[in-house]
Amino acid sequence: MDIYKYQLFLREFAKERDWDQFHTPKNLVMALAGEAGELLDVFQWLKPDESLNENIGPETRQAAKEEIADVFIYLVRLADKLDIDLEHAFIEKMKKNGKKYEIGKSSLNQFNK
Ligand SMILES: [Mg+2]
Repeated sequence: MDIYKYQLFLREFAKERDWDQFHTPKNLVMALAGEAGELLDVFQWLKPDESLNENIGPETRQAAKEEIADVFIYLVRLADKLDIDLEHAFIEKMKKNGKKYEIGKSSLNQFNK
């Protein structure tokens, strides 16, 4: 996935609509949180097993798909406005997580000893 390509697309999309004036990091973070809330709303009252991939219906799947896309759009736009290379940030964070959460050393495994 070429995230930079999406950043450029969204940059142009906003420019054509004169939305850049609204796309401050503060506003984008708020929009991102709002869309995450809309995604939460899709699953909020489902029982855990009802939320499993094999159990959700087409309407729930479509709603989840649209809200995940909204979250992605604002995340990509926010990273662009902050000059953050998302792919690089992902790799760096996963390296950090790999050291922090070593295989076989999670707290869950410690309970099983
Ligand atoms: Mg939405």
